[in-house]
Amino acid sequence: MRPRLLTLCVLSILCLSLAATAAAPKKRRAWITIGDTAFQKVQALVPRMVAIGSRQTSVAGMPEKVHAVVVDESQIVAIAGAIHQHMGQCGGFMYHTSEAEARAALAVRRDAMPVPVYGIDQREVVEPILANMQDKNIEASILALSGFTNRYYSSPSGVEAANWLLSAWREIAAGREDISVALVTHMAYAQPSVTLTIAGTDLAAEKVVVGAHLDSILSFRMSDTARAPGADDDASGVASMTEALRALIASGYRPRRTIQVFAYAAEEVGLRGSQEIARQFKGAGQRVAGVLQLDMTNYKGAASDIYLITDYTNSEQNTFIAQLAAAYLPTLTVGYDRCGYGCSDHASWDAQGYPVSMPFEASMGRDNPAIHTSRDTYENSGGQAVHALKFARLAAAYMVELSGG
Ligand SMILES: [Zn+2]
Repeated sequence: MRPRLLTLCVLSILCLSLAATAAAPKKRRAWITIGDTAFQKVQALVPRMVAIGSRQTSVAGMPEKVHAVVVDESQIVAIAGAIHQHMGQCGGFMYHTSEAEARAALAVRRDAMPVPVYGIDQREVVEPILANMQDKNIEASILALSGFTNRYYSSPSGVEAANWLLSAWREIAAGREDISVALVTHMAYAQPSVTLTIAGTDLAAEKVVVGAHLDSILSFRMSDTARAPGADDDASGVASMTEALRALIASGYRPRRTIQVFAYAAEEVGLRGSQEIARQFKGAGQRVAGVLQLDMTNYKGAASDIYLITDYTNSEQNTFIAQLAAAYLPTLTVGYDRCGYGCSDHASWDAQGYPVSMPFEASMGRDNPAIHTSRDTYENSGGQAVHALKFARLAAAYMVELSGG
């Protein structure tokens, strides 16, 4: 307490109440950015949210209003729960550690990076890799990841899951000096992200990035011991990516561009892991040919097999992904949908100007209804990994064709 305040207290009958306020545990402020529709819904459930700034913009041809909002840190789980309940989304907002960061996130980005020249000319490399990929391997990864009590960003089992994945990826990379596997620690919370890098040959300075999120959550009542299997959200994405990596490495393939994959921490609480990583990339001036996000790949709830998300993604790269699907997975059908502001980690890369895409398991509203509950189990994705295998193959084709052979 400052001396002037102390003097005031002596003279004032407010002294007791002021002292009580000063002694009370300090609430921790946090900032989020959130789309208008979600904001309206969340306000009804989470009181005391105050918008400090707004931006009216246009995303993929549709108007969208985004708000910067100051909240209490303790409200984050409730906000995530409210967005999920009303919007059916996995993410839905971006967390910021300062007001300045939140306001910067509102600013219109004008520095989108150029996309590379796309081509499909690695058929003799890609086809054997795809043929070697198996749904049973994806099943094993989903079962292992969803076997942890939860993978919450601040829980002990969320850290254990990261360490398990680190070991699994190390096993896949064993014997290859050009591959490194590491944890990416985040200062503000316990769960690390996990990353694997295959060094490129002659174009090593440029990267191809593929990601999925490691963490899981329960709507509204999350704790260290709460059961949040997150089998579809997003063990399926991590498992799809892992099977793509396994087959790619087993084939002896050496990429020209560096391939780096991430299992991001803390997606469910505002895309925190991926935001930190994408910001580091930008800060380091890292060149990136493209980014792919896999978040929920194993529940087939709609007519088409793969839905490309058109908002907060790169339309040229989306076209390339559709061409990859047509070339390598010709029996599959591709649909398109939007998923709204901050709906998964692709938004973190888009915010930094990197070309990013997200192929999704279904159209919005027909995706897995069990996510963010204790019922998000492998059984409730139909007890199969055939759907996720499509995304694993798409990711493998993407990595090889964009990295070059
Ligand atoms: Zn998710």
